[in-house]
Amino acid sequence: MQNTAAPNAVPTHCPYCALQCGMNLTPVEGGTVEVSERADFPVNRGALCGKGRTAPQVLAPGARLTSPLVRSRDGALMPAGWDEALDRIAGSLGRTRAEYGADALGVFGGGGLTNEKAYALGKFARVVLGTSQIDYNGRFCMSSAAAAGTRAFGLDRGLPFPLEDIPEAGCVILVGSNPAETMPPSMRYFTALRENGGTLIVVDPRRTRTAEQADLHLAPRPGTDLALALGMLHLVVAEGRVDEAYVEERTSGWEEARAAAMAHWPEYVERITGVAVPELREAVRLFCAPEAAMVLTARGPEQQAKGTDTVGAWINLCLATGRAGRLRSGYGCLTGQGNGQGGREHGQKADQLPGYRKLTDPAARRHVAEVWGVGPDSLPGPGRSAYELLDALGTDIRSLLVMGSNPVVSAPRAAHVEGRLRSLDFLAVCDVVLSETAELADVVLPVTQWAEETGTTTNLEGRVLLRRRALTPPEGVRSDLEVLHGLAGRLGVEKGFPVEPEEVFEELRRASAGGPADYSGIDYRRLAEENGVFWPCPAPPADGGADHGTGTAPHPGTPRLFLDRFATEDGRARFAPVAHRPSAEEPDDAYPVLLTTGRVVAQYQSGAQTRRVAELNAAAPGPFVELHPLLAARLGATEGDPLAVVSRRGRAVAPARITTGIRPDTVFMPFHWPGEGRANTLTNPALDPVSRMPEFKVCAVRVETVRP
Ligand code: SF4
Repeated sequence: MQNTAAPNAVPTHCPYCALQCGMNLTPVEGGTVEVSERADFPVNRGALCGKGRTAPQVLAPGARLTSPLVRSRDGALMPAGWDEALDRIAGSLGRTRAEYGADALGVFGGGGLTNEKAYALGKFARVVLGTSQIDYNGRFCMSSAAAAGTRAFGLDRGLPFPLEDIPEAGCVILVGSNPAETMPPSMRYFTALRENGGTLIVVDPRRTRTAEQADLHLAPRPGTDLALALGMLHLVVAEGRVDEAYVEERTSGWEEARAAAMAHWPEYVERITGVAVPELREAVRLFCAPEAAMVLTARGPEQQAKGTDTVGAWINLCLATGRAGRLRSGYGCLTGQGNGQGGREHGQKADQLPGYRKLTDPAARRHVAEVWGVGPDSLPGPGRSAYELLDALGTDIRSLLVMGSNPVVSAPRAAHVEGRLRSLDFLAVCDVVLSETAELADVVLPVTQWAEETGTTTNLEGRVLLRRRALTPPEGVRSDLEVLHGLAGRLGVEKGFPVEPEEVFEELRRASAGGPADYSGIDYRRLAEENGVFWPCPAPPADGGADHGTGTAPHPGTPRLFLDRFATEDGRARFAPVAHRPSAEEPDDAYPVLLTTGRVVAQYQSGAQTRRVAELNAAAPGPFVELHPLLAARLGATEGDPLAVVSRRGRAVAPARITTGIRPDTVFMPFHWPGEGRANTLTNPALDPVSRMPEFKVCAVRVETVRP
């Protein structure tokens, strides 16, 4: 990577994870761009991981789709013109709607789509198709944290404070989070925390690269971190560490939460989690000692069938110790996907409208319907959540439009989901590469990528960012906004789907105005000049009347939430009276081992893009089964031996990777690959009752050696 930007370098952001690292792009010969350091963006200050550094390789014409593909009579996907492809999609969707009704049409979006695309996709589903059946893969990402945050604070924003607060926190507990692999440049914040004398506690069943840097690593049995948080809260109460004044002044529901925690004795928690009582006490001591402290969760606690309550238990710990809503303190979620935050705010989620409004709220429906120029009664109600939508394919849902997602690899119980996709009457996929899901489609549309289009994303801090176009897309490729425009027109809606991202953003601003995620005071000019703006950022009232403390001056944005009051009706944070319960699937004689899944540093999500980058593939060429030497010895397995991991949903085969850094009762598989090593063949689609998050992080399996 170059250290200085060329004069014609375009400042923009990485296409991958939620850190949204800043980078400069300079067009070079061969139809791609060169990445160079962009030190002015505060989140990463020029640092990039290997994924970001090599992202331009997916822009090269040989690595991506450059022509629509249409399935021919003999079953092959063949190059076709745009008109033919769009006609075929519009015709098929129209026929399905005429025959089965609008809710037989499904739309499946992605957490990598820009805010403009997420907004336009939600509007397209509800206004053009008239279907309620839209959700996105972000449901599989952080939905439990979003549900728990909304329940406790009245508002979900991944981090309610900027990353720059982490080094000043005194103590940070990272729960089920491995940023050293998922977003390496973020580790500088945790390093600075420790250099400042603060402590880092990592809760993870594996001794991950992040856990190796911790002052204390707690390794609970998968699916028991809810009990761990309750055990810590029990000790907080028993040791007199509750911040009584804060609890009295800023919270509600403490007595019920306290009673629930007191039922979780440390010795009982040790039996459930496998974490010894002295370690539990040490964690409480480290967490309570400094004036400021944070709990940050990621997919570990969230991707469980009790994910909302598990996150709620960690929030309770923050509330009882007076952490939330105070400087350099509190609870936050490290969202995963590039626009996982913005993607859930603007209407591609089954139950939400732009501005993070509830689809069931009559006032929200009226407001958004007015912006869209339709009657509020014409807007459908909430639809199925992501897994439920995929599970209904081929039965209640007959035709599906997928935009920026690869559920064949990333969905739980993936072989079943693949079967449901194959059973559809019609499948259309918009993607940059021929993903495993696109391979099943009747029509594939090749779309522009991050460096070829302008648009906004919202990173894990709630910082709205401007990605800029640095490159002319290859001929034969169109943007997702052009796709929606083309389909809307063919389906009889001529207006309301502009192809210019800024025009879409201007409408999004109006649609979000007054909502929880208010972007109305943000525009492209500000984003360019200010290097991002934190929402909520309302527009000043035109008459300078009842304002947001800024008169008619632009609102500065809101880096820190909840310092004065929480976003609940009474301004108080709400404790949740949660209790431990087993995972949906516990080990038994037939399936005696626990499986947990996750990520490796060189691959991103379903791997559709990163598996096409030679350097990343060389670093992480395929899946593996990580297991403890004790379990390996019981199986008679040695390093590299092929192992079959079998769950009630299927079988996956991958080589053994033996390490003492995992519990003997647990195996780990990364989920980035399709085929026989596909980890999500095994995972359990049991859903959290509130967030509808599947239980990716824990299921029961048996492990067998594979004889040649
Ligand atoms: Fe891109 Fe995330 Fe890597 Fe930053 S950490 S370069 S945003 S993948």
